Amino acid sequence: VAIYRDSIPRVSLAQVRSQFPPRVFARMGAVCLEHGGVAEDVAIETAHGSGAVALRPWFRCPQCGGLAGVLGIVDGRWGCRACGQWRSRNRRRLGATA
Ligand SMILES: [Zn+2]
Repeated sequence: VAIYRDSIPRVSLAQVRSQFPPRVFARMGAVCLEHGGVAEDVAIETAHGSGAVALRPWFRCPQCGGLAGVLGIVDGRWGCRACGQWRSRNRRRLGATA
């Protein structure tokens, strides 16, 4: 299966949070993300994001260690937007060959 640079499977922290009762989610230190056979435990930390006033939960990116609100599968691992370079639309053709 080719993974296209512009159609990386992604999951937001809000999506994860919606799958658990609030009391359960509040005590979770990590969550196992799974998609297409790629499973990995990802830490969840409550912190002030850049520019954010309120404390809120974030993923801890397994690849670069940064805080992220969305993770996607990058080269067979979960990673953040900076790791996956999701905004680079000029890379679209990298997945053109099956
Ligand atoms: Zn990262």
